[in-house]
Amino acid sequence: MVQWLRCDPVTVEIRVRFPVAAFESQPRELVSAEQILRGSRLILQGSFGLIVIGITGKYCAGKTTVCDYLKSKSFQYESLSDELRRLLESGGEKATRERLISKGNELRKKHGNGVLAKSIIERIPKDRNYVIDSLRNPDEINEFKKFQNFHLWGINADEKTRFERIVKRKREGDPKTFEEFRKLEKLESSSRDQNAQQLDKCIEMAEARIENNSTLADLFAKTDSLLLQIPLEFKRPSWDEYFMNIAKEVASRSNCVKRKVGAVIVREKRIVSTGYNGTPRGVNNCNEGGCPRCNSFAENGTKLDECLCSHAEENCIVQASFHGISTANGTIYATYSPCLTCSKMIINAGIKKVVYNANYPLAENALRMLKEAGVETVKMQF
Ligand SMILES: [Zn+2]
Ligand SMILES: [Zn+2]
Repeated sequence: MVQWLRCDPVTVEIRVRFPVAAFESQPRELVSAEQILRGSRLILQGSFGLIVIGITGKYCAGKTTVCDYLKSKSFQYESLSDELRRLLESGGEKATRERLISKGNELRKKHGNGVLAKSIIERIPKDRNYVIDSLRNPDEINEFKKFQNFHLWGINADEKTRFERIVKRKREGDPKTFEEFRKLEKLESSSRDQNAQQLDKCIEMAEARIENNSTLADLFAKTDSLLLQIPLEFKRPSWDEYFMNIAKEVASRSNCVKRKVGAVIVREKRIVSTGYNGTPRGVNNCNEGGCPRCNSFAENGTKLDECLCSHAEENCIVQASFHGISTANGTIYATYSPCLTCSKMIINAGIKKVVYNANYPLAENALRMLKEAGVETVKMQF
C-alpha cells in the first residue's frame, strides 16, 4: 500500500485501443466489485498458458502503481530495468540512470534490441501470469508478443504532474529541474538511434492506454476493467494429445535396449493405468543384460519367444490387474501400434479403443484382428 501512495492521486481517462471488432461481439458493461473479483479469480484459474501484461509509459506516469496493483492480484513482477540492473551490478558497477541507459544501449547493439526481453523470457517459469514493467523498445515488445495472450498497456499522465511526482519520489539519478526532466525525456522518447529507447513508439504500440491524472480508485477501476477484457481462452492440448504426451513420458522409463514404448489406459478421461516395456519385476533390467534376445540385437520378428521384455500395453493391463482396477470400456493410448499378443489382451481386457502413434512392425494382423473384435483403432499423427 505504501508504494501506491508514492504518486499523487490520479484520475484515469482510458482509451481502449483494442481492435474494435474484438469487442463488438462481446460488449462489456461497467463492472461491479463482485464481477471484478470473479474476473480476477478466472484469470488466476487459467491453468494452461499465461497472461503477460507489458507496461510502457513515461516517467512517473503511474507504471509502478499499476504493476503493484497487478501484483496484488497474483501477477508476478518482472522489469527490464531490474534485469539490466542485475546485469550491471553483477559486473560490480553502480546502477545510475545514465549508466543504465548506456549499458542498455550497449547490450542492444551487441545482442539485438530484444536482449533484455529474451533474458527475462528464458529465466521465468511459464506457468503463471506476469506483469512486465518498463518496456522501452519496440523490439523488446515484439519479443513478448511471441507469447500467447500478451497485452501491452501504455500509462500516461500530464508532463507537469509527472515532474511533480518525480521530485516527490526522490530517487537517486532522477532529474532535479523541469528542464533537465524534459531534456532527458526527449532523449528517451524518440531517439533516431535504432538501439536507443523509443518510448513514443512503444506507447503507440499499446493496445490500451490509461491517462492517469486523477484518483487511485479510478486508476484501479480502469485497470480492473482492462483485465476483464482480456480473453481467457488458453490453447490447451486435446484429450488425445494430452494422453499421448503422457504415454510418451511413460515410455521414457523403459529399460529396453531395442525400443522405448509407453501406454496409458484411460476410462472416462481419467488414467487408470500406465505401462512401459522392459523385463518383469525382479528380473535384471534389459539394459543391464536382463534380456539376452534384446541384447543380441536380434533381427526383427525373430526369436520373439526368447524375449524377456514385457510390452508396454501388456504391462499397462497387468498393472490395472495388480491394483484390481477394471479396464472395461477403456481406451489405451500407446506410442506404437500393438503387437498380436498385446492386441489379444486388449480385446479380452474389454478395451474398446486403441489410439497409437507410430506403426509397430508386424502390426497389420493385429490391427485387422482388433477391427474384427470391434475395437476402434486410431492412428494419431503426432
Ligand atoms: Zn528389451
Ligand atoms: Zn506387444
